[in-house]
Amino acid sequence: MSKLITYVPLSSVERIELRVTNCRKTLSQVKAETKAHYVLNGGMWNPDGTPCPLLKVGGAMLSGTPWRPMGYAWDKGPDIHMTSEYEGAANFIAVTALISSGEPVDKPSYGSAQGGKRGRSAIGLRGGSLALYCSSDGADAATPETLRDELAGLGWASAVMLDGGGSSQCDFGGERITASRKVHNWICVWLKQGGQKPPEQEDKPMSKHTVCLDPGHGPGNVNGSPDGTYKEWEFTWDMAQRIKPLLEAQGVGVVLTKTADNYPSLTERANISNKSKPDCFVSIHTNAYGEGGWSSASGLEIYTSAGPMTAQRNVLASELVNTFHAAGVSLRNEPIKHEMYTVLAKTDAPAALIEYGFHTNKMDTEYLKDSKYRDKLAEATAKGICEFLGVAWQAEPGEDNAKDTPDSWAAEAWQKAKDKGVLDGTRPRDNMTRQELAVVLDRLNLI
Ligand SMILES: [Zn+2]
Repeated sequence: MSKLITYVPLSSVERIELRVTNCRKTLSQVKAETKAHYVLNGGMWNPDGTPCPLLKVGGAMLSGTPWRPMGYAWDKGPDIHMTSEYEGAANFIAVTALISSGEPVDKPSYGSAQGGKRGRSAIGLRGGSLALYCSSDGADAATPETLRDELAGLGWASAVMLDGGGSSQCDFGGERITASRKVHNWICVWLKQGGQKPPEQEDKPMSKHTVCLDPGHGPGNVNGSPDGTYKEWEFTWDMAQRIKPLLEAQGVGVVLTKTADNYPSLTERANISNKSKPDCFVSIHTNAYGEGGWSSASGLEIYTSAGPMTAQRNVLASELVNTFHAAGVSLRNEPIKHEMYTVLAKTDAPAALIEYGFHTNKMDTEYLKDSKYRDKLAEATAKGICEFLGVAWQAEPGEDNAKDTPDSWAAEAWQKAKDKGVLDGTRPRDNMTRQELAVVLDRLNLI
């Protein structure tokens, strides 16, 4: 992963400190020494080793002649706010302000060495949360202006761009973007004991069974179709919203690893699952193949961390494969694969990661974008999970009375077949016999 965005509620922040290492320590060393939950590279420095343009740490001004750029000031941490007044607070960091008082800065002020497209890091505030951003050089590189626009689009109320390029590196709850450079100063954030509460913990239903659903990625993630019409993170959130009520209707409680607009790290997602002690963990993704264009790889596949196939995680994956197959979803040749992905390796519960199709395949993408197809995928997912939990699937109230009504994803085609006299409009969920097929082919004038 080459971009990480995280939001830390200020109410759960214990303290924020600037750790000055004068370019002598790596990210790993700082993380190990401080045991901070979040570490992000800080501001820039001059060739003589002094920080610039403005750095105040623990009451001491470390940079040269003070001027008045907008930056972040705080004493302990939860009081962090954007201001140009550096005298009042014990700590102050300023580099390049991108958003101030909810407004994107028209012409961000920066030197030539900071310009161009490169890895970026930023600190900001959004809602009641501290917002942290880090990307590396490469696909997720940005100019100061595109970074500003991205953060404004994500609803950041204020933002300061920190040092970029080879300095841009972070450890957000164990999730890292690394670089070899030893930067001058680091922003370290510690959480209160107990840390962040998983979302919706208070509302957790008193169900016999609980499932943790993990919608992959989050706002700002670039994964998507080559033509830009499909974004993986939007799909994963939408799917979670479809699967959750289906499970709840079966009396299964659901915990989500994220909210609509946050972007927790993979380790945070595993932690949320582990705290809620679910019966299983299901991560929602779509796949990619190739160098950025369309490719022929297609179909659904499911990952678990490892064999043997008798392990609960593989039983879960097999149940899911069975229900997808029964629903007529196109599968990969070997639909179950093993990979030590973080969310699979760090979760205590039996865990599976579903790649519902390839967003680099034109046909798969057309299906993935279709709301009715998503309903079908969601129902198959919920059914597979219930199969694994030993929960007998109860048809929705009314569904029994509507035996001649097909599922919503098939309704349109069913109606057409009826209208044209290809099918008689009964038993939408029954299998078709060879003789019935012959009759249908005859009606279509195909034989
Ligand atoms: Zn993904």
